[in-house]
Amino acid sequence: MSRIRLLPETVASQVAAGEVVERPASVLKELIENSIDAGARKIDVLIRRGGIALVRVVDDGCGMDRDDALLSLERHATSKIRSAADLQAVATLGFRGEALPSIASVSRFRLTTRESGAVAGTEIVINGGKIDVVRDGGEAPGTQVEVRSLFYNVPARRKFLRAENTESRNIEHQIHLQAIGHPQVAFCLLRDDRMLFQLPSAATLGDRIRDLFGIELLERLVEIDSTSSRNIRIDGYIGQAGLSRQTRTQQLVFVNGRAIESGMLTGAIREGYHTALMKGQYPVTFLFLQIDPASVDVNVHPAKREVRFRDPSAVREAIVHSIQQTLERGRAGWQEKFHAPSISPTAIPTEVSPNLKLRPEIAAPQESYRELPHLGTTVVGVADPGRTRFPEIAGQAPRLAGPRVDSASDAFAVPRDAKKASQQQFQILGVLNKLYVLMENADGLVLVDQHAAHERILFEELRRRMEEQGVPTQKLLLPQTFDVPPRDADWIERNLSILQKMGIGIEPFGPGTFKIDSLPGFLDVSDPSQFMRKVIDDLKSAGHSTSSMRLGEEMIAKTVCRHAIKANDPLRYPEIDKLIRDLLECDLPYCCPHGRPTMIQISLAELEKKFGRKV
Ligand code: ADP
Ligand code: MG
Repeated sequence: MSRIRLLPETVASQVAAGEVVERPASVLKELIENSIDAGARKIDVLIRRGGIALVRVVDDGCGMDRDDALLSLERHATSKIRSAADLQAVATLGFRGEALPSIASVSRFRLTTRESGAVAGTEIVINGGKIDVVRDGGEAPGTQVEVRSLFYNVPARRKFLRAENTESRNIEHQIHLQAIGHPQVAFCLLRDDRMLFQLPSAATLGDRIRDLFGIELLERLVEIDSTSSRNIRIDGYIGQAGLSRQTRTQQLVFVNGRAIESGMLTGAIREGYHTALMKGQYPVTFLFLQIDPASVDVNVHPAKREVRFRDPSAVREAIVHSIQQTLERGRAGWQEKFHAPSISPTAIPTEVSPNLKLRPEIAAPQESYRELPHLGTTVVGVADPGRTRFPEIAGQAPRLAGPRVDSASDAFAVPRDAKKASQQQFQILGVLNKLYVLMENADGLVLVDQHAAHERILFEELRRRMEEQGVPTQKLLLPQTFDVPPRDADWIERNLSILQKMGIGIEPFGPGTFKIDSLPGFLDVSDPSQFMRKVIDDLKSAGHSTSSMRLGEEMIAKTVCRHAIKANDPLRYPEIDKLIRDLLECDLPYCCPHGRPTMIQISLAELEKKFGRKV
């Protein structure tokens, strides 16, 4: 007796539904995508009990006539592609002809649809895949789909649904994705008869982000200067350095209008942010990639969440480049606020001195440096002593490691002509809790974390040196040998030249053994072989795709923290002034090399709002 049988159509649909319809949010995704493909300008969504009891999507799209409406519920029936060749360049969101029959096979399903200009519309009711009713219906032009009691006939799937709240959140996330992906479409979401949001059709992506997430978020984003290279165009907004989230929910990437999840894209974004992102945090991105449809395969995942690129490394490069550029451009915005005179008419203090000094171990060997002149208790010059009181001056100069050594002629005692010294204008007000420098600029109040600021300055300085002449090294008194397991040995051998560029003098010394005879001058290491083991561990975990420069940067980022001035290190006024000026000269001044913010700007407008002066 033959054992193989063709599955009945309804069972086959349920099997397919297993892939396409995972939860209420996936139903919603398919329905909204159909509406958008149908040219809808307005989409209204209603959900009950997390979408488990009901998901209803109403659109004002092109609608269907009766024949098409019936056909749309057959498996593999689609209006979007006609031949295998069309698969090469899919321009619509749907194309598999699977969603409607799949959904209808695992729910109580009702479709009403009418083409504009048609006398009558059509209503079709299907329960668990079986057509119960087909009749004329008289709704407004467009299509309305109701999906009730999801998985009522598939208990095994129903068990996997989460709590209603969780499903609701998934639904909200899904509709956020769609709303961001299609700003021109108006969206409305009702949950259990409560209006969650109503988004008007937006002229631009920026307007949509503002309507959905608020102006505060929009103000912390930087718009990408859209660039196209090698058939890839990238637009959108990304969070400025220092802005991050604990989850990935606002890290959105769209490829040809489709929200995509991909490890490669996530990796590229991380790489683009690099030191501008805190460890373990996620960036905020609204990234839109436009790629020739023939260069992307969307037919990889039944729910179309993933895509395959023909040239993934070109996509990766384009993303990294565009994020880096955008972040650096974001810096100009910050600097602008320091270019106008600060708000108070008070003059800029005269006793301003470029006094932060390199520690001997940080200075390049050929550079000369002076010991910090002892300021004793010299009064710190503040033009309006009545208004601004600088904190007590410590008797002992802290050992500051400042990167830029000014020439001897630029002695600290020479009153600095503010204009000549720098374009940056700000006024230091004081230091809070021996850590936060308070100052004002044209925009209002600025708080600077002195430790984080100094880390950023040191980091960029050391990186610059590494790029230019290599890190200055310091010979060890006694060269050391150390053994490593075979895999590490292999790793070291492959990365010898990078390690040397980073200032680590290391060479093979027999099988599995290496000799170190010098280390970067800025390090303060008591046990070189233990240090090397740690560096290897750290750098190995930093990822295989990282460039040589990047490995060096990781090491610097890890070490600068120990050398930067600490919270509690009391600084003198000139030192703070120098610190801030150096910070503003950095490529990425607004976050430390670990992605924590260095500066927080509180605008006057914000203050006025807080004090109820302005609504
Ligand atoms: P696909 O979207 O992959 O083509 P679906 O099963 O989702 O497959 O939909 C089948 C067909 O039904 C679509 O190709 C489209 O022609 C039609 N259709 C579905 N939803 C709508 C809608 N909201 N408005 C107009 N036509 C629709
Ligand atoms: Mg579809």
